Amino acid sequence: MSAQVLDGKLLAKNREQLLKVAVDQLIAQGGRKPALATILVGDDPSSATYVQMKINACERVGMGSKSIILPAKTTTEELLTEITRLNNDPEINGILLQHPVPEQIDERACFDAISLEKDVDGVTTQGFGRMAMGEKAFGSATPAGIMTLLKHYDVQMEGKHAVVVGRSPILGKPMAAMLLNANATVTVCHSRTVDLAQQVQKADIVIGAVGKPELIKAQWINDGAVVIDAGYHVGGVGDIEKQGLETRVSAMTPVPGGVGPMTINALISQTLKAAQLASL
Ligand code: NAP
Repeated sequence: MSAQVLDGKLLAKNREQLLKVAVDQLIAQGGRKPALATILVGDDPSSATYVQMKINACERVGMGSKSIILPAKTTTEELLTEITRLNNDPEINGILLQHPVPEQIDERACFDAISLEKDVDGVTTQGFGRMAMGEKAFGSATPAGIMTLLKHYDVQMEGKHAVVVGRSPILGKPMAAMLLNANATVTVCHSRTVDLAQQVQKADIVIGAVGKPELIKAQWINDGAVVIDAGYHVGGVGDIEKQGLETRVSAMTPVPGGVGPMTINALISQTLKAAQLASL
């Protein structure tokens, strides 16, 4: 058996073509050009790269963007002021606050200050609660992108046992809620989980979202499982060790080229959706 490649890069590229058509249509119908505001606090080079990739994606589909770069010593109050300004700016449809922010900032307070209709990265407490309850809301971009990928490749979730390794507010927790809403049976693992190997061995679908290179070992993963790796580390490795998996599992995401492009795609898709709703 050779594992199916869940090609996020290709899917995102194809979906961008559709997004471009929809953006053009919105503008032709008299709508404002959809626009995403990005906020980068500090000078972390990886964060700057991620933000630039999001801005580039906006450009590719004909959407506008507004880049706000704030110094590393920015206070919570200063960031909140910036977010309020963007909430009130009718030319901005979506707000992305790049995570993580410097430690003196209350990140949760800043995420929660983003108005629900502009929360296109799905980071607010209210948006999370609505999504988890199955109400309309923008999902957290990375798990939303993963769900799009799974659906595109017809990966059956209903009745399957999904094991999510990681429980962060932007990834593991919303991922678990989305899989549960798709009728999977979900186990969520974290740093205090006892015997992670035993938990992963139960999985039909494994989601690696730990942020540690190859923490999840290939030998823990069942034959025939579906493997989703959100991690990306120096040397092109993810959070899941891939040794020999290509011939044992049914499907897997490449690293890079799996989850990353789908995260950006979810973000810009949700920005367009916010713009469409604002134009009604
Ligand atoms: P995070 O906030 O650091 O959370 C990591 C999670 O992993 C925590 O819940 C932590 O448990 C858990 N964990 C840490 N060590 C563990 C261990 N030994 N055993 C079991 N669980 C452990 O990270 P994140 O923001 O969710 O990101 C996770 C990964 O996804 C990273 O590799 C990140 O780069 C990647 N990511 C990718 C994208 C993308 O677009 N491709 C976007 C976002 C994140 P505790 O809660 O107990 O501390």
